[in-house]
Amino acid sequence: MNRTMTAVFSICIALTALPLGAQDLGPHVRKISDGIYVYAAKPADANVTIIMTTEGPVLIDTGQTPVDARAAMEVLKKLTPQPVRFIIHTEPHADHTSGDFVFATPATVIAHAGATAEMKQSGIAARNQKLMAAYPEMREALDGYRMVPPQIEYRDRMTLSVGERTLDLIYLKNVHSTADTAIWLPKERILWATAAVGVKRYPNLRPFLTIPDILASIKLMRSLNPEIVIAGHGAPGTTQIFDEMERYYAMLLETVGKLAREGKSLDQVKAEFRMPEFDDWAARERISTSVDAAYRAVKGN
Ligand SMILES: [Zn+2]
Repeated sequence: MNRTMTAVFSICIALTALPLGAQDLGPHVRKISDGIYVYAAKPADANVTIIMTTEGPVLIDTGQTPVDARAAMEVLKKLTPQPVRFIIHTEPHADHTSGDFVFATPATVIAHAGATAEMKQSGIAARNQKLMAAYPEMREALDGYRMVPPQIEYRDRMTLSVGERTLDLIYLKNVHSTADTAIWLPKERILWATAAVGVKRYPNLRPFLTIPDILASIKLMRSLNPEIVIAGHGAPGTTQIFDEMERYYAMLLETVGKLAREGKSLDQVKAEFRMPEFDDWAARERISTSVDAAYRAVKGN
């Protein structure tokens, strides 16, 4: 075997060894580790995770839309006849929670304090109407829709033991919504990092969020030393997801800080702001929220 052939052969072996297959569960499912699967129909969609346990499955989030929730339910049926035991919300927004009703009986829904209040204010009914108008398949998927407010709202930290699994729920302050929960599986070394981080996608930095809080959360999550990192949206990866976000925020603060020190107003900063290193990221319409947050950070308010 010549050198090129050996290289090709090694690559083939490496690819077949990757735990990404799960072909029998459909093209949108990745096997992350034994009994742990992530579903997302499109790369930027919210991830749904199925964690199998001897006491029944646990879900992390319930799909970008109810169509995704039903697709995830079909995946689940191939894995087990058992009903979902717990649903954990990484955040209260509709693209993570509006599929709850598909699984919610008899599952118990767990989220951080404040999640129910934010779900009720978030205009899910209007979003459902819009989805039905845009996608014909949505009407059927929404049949039987009801909002499922979390039965359990924990504060700061919570450990959930289900069968052989231990799940640590960790509140992340001011990173994306008012109730963001990272989930850490210490034995499996897998971390669900919420929308505190993205995968080649600009964050939506709402006015109450702060870059120092986001950086502190990334530091906290990194300190757990995870082998696999799964963001709220985007392909599962490693701590490189953290490296990339830290690089983004460092450059953002440097760029905005430089313009602010030159005495530029926020509007002037926005007009002059350029960060071409990140031009290939999605959701460009959110860049101005990053500039707002960076300006608040460098001005100390
Ligand atoms: Zn969100």
